[in-house]
Amino acid sequence: QLARDMVQHICDWALFVRIRPFIGSEINETKGLIQTDTKTITLSRQENVRNFRFFRVFEETCTQIDLYQCIAVPIVEKVFDGYNGTIFAYGQSGTGKTYTMVGDVRRNELKGIVPNIFSHIFTQISLSNKDISYVVTVTYLEIYNEEIRDLLSGDTNKKLTVREKPGLGVYVKDLLGFTVDSLEGVTEILLKGNKNRATGSTKLNDTSSRSHAIFSILIESRNRVNNKTTYGKLNLVDLAGSERVNKTLATGDRLREAQKINLSLSVLGNVISALVDGKASYIPYRNSKLTRLLQDSLGGNSLTAMIATISPSEVDFEESIYTLMYADRVR
Ligand code: ADP
Ligand code: MG
Repeated sequence: QLARDMVQHICDWALFVRIRPFIGSEINETKGLIQTDTKTITLSRQENVRNFRFFRVFEETCTQIDLYQCIAVPIVEKVFDGYNGTIFAYGQSGTGKTYTMVGDVRRNELKGIVPNIFSHIFTQISLSNKDISYVVTVTYLEIYNEEIRDLLSGDTNKKLTVREKPGLGVYVKDLLGFTVDSLEGVTEILLKGNKNRATGSTKLNDTSSRSHAIFSILIESRNRVNNKTTYGKLNLVDLAGSERVNKTLATGDRLREAQKINLSLSVLGNVISALVDGKASYIPYRNSKLTRLLQDSLGGNSLTAMIATISPSEVDFEESIYTLMYADRVR
């Protein structure tokens, strides 16, 4: 029912929030600062009270499969019809972006959006009308410091460039696309890319939280009877951590890195709000690699969902407010 609600509501995009449970040393804390109902969330500490409204608020008890069904299923179905779809996870590092997008690929109840989408796609293809043939192609890249790397290539250090051609649109030159025909095959590709994201050899410690990762799935369907072909593209984006760095502590590379993340996240916010506004005459896609690459998938014939992830902990109170303000500004 929720999924159906959403299809009707999604004209272009929908905004969600997910609160992760207390973890590690937080487990002695109580959830006094956050109140929620289905569509609203209130953060309050003393006289500081902030109220936000979302398409849907997912509490810490929400399961991976419930979230998947509510957010991703309606989008995947539209991609089969030839629409483009994009799902973003936005938030402070450690709040559950990767858990939400990928999760634990090998454990059914812990699978995130991406592996659940794989199952959906191959089930739908196996059940479909035999007059339609499908080709599913995937790519997986990372944007780190405004540089693009292919997470599926043998040389993940190679920097790739963005190109644009009439008729072809915006694309990444030399990015490898893999045609997949089974759940096992595509899962292996995802795991390979995840491994490269975590251990790329130019990387310092945990750069995964400072890079954007985009897993894209292109679904081409051809009707053998009338030869009609449709293309739908789905982008699944695990964004860099949105936390603000302490400018007096960060220096050198770390500061430049942080400035690039801030820039690309704020350009993304500007692009989405310009699109949602609908009256803007200029959409600043070109101001960051992320928006440039997603240009064809944001706006136009497309559906976009953003999941803002937050921590329930009091130490993260300020960052949680910033995350919700970002999401709120975008709406
Ligand atoms: P991020 O990608 O935003 O940095 P992670 O996805 O790595 O954050 O999550 C940080 C930690 O919190 C991980 O140990 C993860 O397993 C745990 N976690 C995040 N969200 C949830 C959740 N909804 N339920 C249980 N554990 C979670
Ligand atoms: Mg992560």
